[in-house]
Amino acid sequence: MLFRGFNLKRIFQGRLQKGEDLIEGIKAFLKDECIHKGIISGIGAASRVSIGYYDQTEKRYKMDTFEEPMEILSIKGNISIKDGEPFPHLHGVFSKKDHTCLGGHIFEGTEVFAFEFEVLEFSGDTFIRGYDEETGLYLWMA
Ligand code: ZN
Repeated sequence: MLFRGFNLKRIFQGRLQKGEDLIEGIKAFLKDECIHKGIISGIGAASRVSIGYYDQTEKRYKMDTFEEPMEILSIKGNISIKDGEPFPHLHGVFSKKDHTCLGGHIFEGTEVFAFEFEVLEFSGDTFIRGYDEETGLYLWMA
């Protein structure tokens, strides 16, 4: 197990503009505000959704893009450092017109129709992501 205690530093609430890429928009916000650790949540709507499922045997993401309007029911994730930059790791649940849901690890290519988010920034030693041989994932190392 690896864990660390933090204190709450700042709390933000904001929204992305229609047409923005969800991941790129959040990354830009984190970089602008120098946020290196914390948690993020959000709701809204997307006009395109790109999500992945990690195949634990093949050790790679199976990514799918859905070119249809969906509700963003819940996005939840964390913020740490990967390759020297603030990195949001986000998972999401989305619903279609018939209310059925799908979800997964959110990738670039998810286009916002409307997205309202909260970021809770922590103070303390930032987790840095590094490659983990056993899982094939970039996990918190130190
Ligand atoms: Zn993930």
